[in-house]
Amino acid sequence: MNIAMEKNEIITLTIEDISDEGLGIGHVQAEGCLSGDTAARADEGMAVFVKDSMVGDRLRVRIVKTKKTYSFGRIEEIISPGPDRVLPLCPAARSCGGCQIQEMSYPAQLRLKENKVRNNLRRIGGISLPDEECRGSDSGQQGDKPEYLTPYGSSEDTAKEAAVFCPIIGMDRPYHYRNKAEYPVGRDKSGRLIAGFYAGRTHTVVDGRNCVIGIEENQPILDTVLAWMDRFHVPEYQEETGKGLIRNIMIRCGFATGQIMVVIVVNADRLPHEKELVQTLQNTLAQSISPDEGNVGASSENTGHTGHTGRIWPVRRVTGIILNTNKARTNVILGRKNRTLWGSDSIEDRIGDVRYHISPLSFYQVNPAQTSRLYETALSFADLTGKETVWDLYCGIGTISLFLAEKARMVYGVEVVPDAIANAVENAKLNHIDNVRFICGKAEDVLPQEYKEHQIRADVIVVDPPRKGLEANVIDTIASMNPHRVVYVSCNSATLARDLKLFAEKGYKTVKVQPVDMFPHSVHVETVVLMSRVQK
Ligand code: SAH
Repeated sequence: MNIAMEKNEIITLTIEDISDEGLGIGHVQAEGCLSGDTAARADEGMAVFVKDSMVGDRLRVRIVKTKKTYSFGRIEEIISPGPDRVLPLCPAARSCGGCQIQEMSYPAQLRLKENKVRNNLRRIGGISLPDEECRGSDSGQQGDKPEYLTPYGSSEDTAKEAAVFCPIIGMDRPYHYRNKAEYPVGRDKSGRLIAGFYAGRTHTVVDGRNCVIGIEENQPILDTVLAWMDRFHVPEYQEETGKGLIRNIMIRCGFATGQIMVVIVVNADRLPHEKELVQTLQNTLAQSISPDEGNVGASSENTGHTGHTGRIWPVRRVTGIILNTNKARTNVILGRKNRTLWGSDSIEDRIGDVRYHISPLSFYQVNPAQTSRLYETALSFADLTGKETVWDLYCGIGTISLFLAEKARMVYGVEVVPDAIANAVENAKLNHIDNVRFICGKAEDVLPQEYKEHQIRADVIVVDPPRKGLEANVIDTIASMNPHRVVYVSCNSATLARDLKLFAEKGYKTVKVQPVDMFPHSVHVETVVLMSRVQK
């Protein structure tokens, strides 16, 4: 008798591989049917994708969804764990939608990401890359790679002129790295006020006050706001009815300065008991500072306590409390209107020597330790001597542009969001950098137009596009501008690979590839690529 897989069926599986999205992959076996029926299964060999599973895991899995050629399952029981499985630091690692692979050891996470980049570049980009042996060992990985991670292609197709694939840059301590966190406020089953995260794909709030990705100071700040709400009966916002007041608490920290901004997102223009909130929040972190640190002011630097990411960061203090009004019935977190209740309306941070002012609505990279490594890589790939004209496309608030400006003759930044351009201009002034110019518009409009009308030229072009990658006409125009080098910063290695192939057709060869782990415990990976013009 042939048996086909059904929803809710329980099967036994061994996880053999892991998808780019971090789902474990196993295959249905005849003996996997728990009913004891060992008859041939019609679905034998069918792939089952299992959330939160690791390679080598032997699992009892409940089938939750079936498709024609594959299905999805959830772990019922771990019969025996695979070698990469670790206990997650966070008790909500599975229920929270934030982390996808916290139960995977960090070295295994890095291998997964490195292989994702390598496979995409080879498969989609047709890039010739060397095999594993030439990798370094300074990025936290240990041991040999298991066979299942052996990349596509063999040594025969690794041409002499293969690009250099640098080992992924991981974090020394991949916890408490995020400088920004947004916590929706709700109630748990017993009616207690909580702040945390939405459970994956739902709108149920899971307690996440002690999230291990955010800074440790988040918890006392959240506890203070919740205690104030309890004490003065300030109601939380309810999504279903649109009633209530407190929607979200956003906390943002400048790691280099220790300045913390607390943004209370409210369904109104005013707050009851505002003064009491300000008073209690001002004191929250001050109390946790030991007496010998107590005289450290908010703007002091380099005097700080032990860092959480393997670095010494300065003492952290709340330096601004802001009320953000959002009355819209949407799941957009922040409204447009801010009112500073106390302190400063922005925080300052620094990457390398460059200072940035960050207001509640500004875009800013969330992992400062890795951002400086990412920008250093981009800068070293750009190989500037001070004479170059550089274009930085998709420049956001000008972070990379300003970083490059110190070493270039002139930098032009292009960005579509007007507020970001305003921030970029302000940040240039703050740093007394005057060899930059920012242009607001779409890269695919601005670049061809400037090229046609003003015959602009560039020695180096840096691009950092969103996930969908570059428009073909951006690649065409870059190639026509004929720069010596193109540096591509990408958050999506599939579109990166697609674009590298197009660049290759236009005479730009991939020379070096450097993945950077900006988001430990998620499946995302950032990559910096250096392309060089092939001699004609
Ligand atoms: N380089 C910056 C920002 C990178 S994020 C940093 O490191 O901080 C990508 C940026 O591209 C965003 O700021 C987004 O607003 C911008 N963007 C998206 N589509 C664009 C387009 N078609 N043209 C120009 N900029 C665009």
